[in-house]
Amino acid sequence: MENRLPLTIDPIKAAQKRLDYIGEFLAKNASRLAESVDSVNSNIECALSFGIDQQRLCVIKIDAKVLLTLVCQRCQKPFEVCIHVKNKFSPVKSDAQAEDLPECYEPALLNEFGEIDILALVEDEIILSLPIAPVHDSQHCEVSEADMVFGEIPTEDDRPNPFAILASLKNKP
Ligand SMILES: [Zn+2]
Repeated sequence: MENRLPLTIDPIKAAQKRLDYIGEFLAKNASRLAESVDSVNSNIECALSFGIDQQRLCVIKIDAKVLLTLVCQRCQKPFEVCIHVKNKFSPVKSDAQAEDLPECYEPALLNEFGEIDILALVEDEIILSLPIAPVHDSQHCEVSEADMVFGEIPTEDDRPNPFAILASLKNKP
C-alpha cells in the first residue's frame, strides 16, 4: 500500500501490478475543484485501486472524500458539505473506445504518454457530483419553504364569490 498518491499514472502498468493507494491530494492542488465551489476545506482523501477484470479490461476504482463550502441558492449563505464519490473507470485512448466500454465503467482518457491525470479525474468526479442548485437543509436555511412560494396565491376569502357576481349582474339596469 502506497501513501503517496500519484498525480499521473500509467494505469495499465499499475493494473498489472494490482497497485492500491490510499492518501490525500492537497487542497491547494485542487484548483479545478476550487473554481467550482466557494472553498475547498480539506485535502481530498482518496483510495485508488488498479486491477484487471474478467474481460481483461484495466479497471481503476476511485473512492474520494472532501469537505467543501457551497453557497445556498435559497438564502445565499455559505454552508459546508462532505462530498463522497465512488466510481470505476477504464482507460481509453479515444471517444470510440469510450463508447465501447461496458456501462459499469466510466472512461478515463489516456494522455499522449499513456498516463492518466488522476487528480483531474478525481476532481471532475467530485465536480460532477455537486448539486446543480445547492441548498441548505430546510431547518438550517434562512429562507423558509413558505417564502419560496413566489407571488400570492389567492386564499378562499379573496376570491370573488360567484353568487355575488351574479347578484351584481342582476342588479344592473
Ligand atoms: Zn439557505
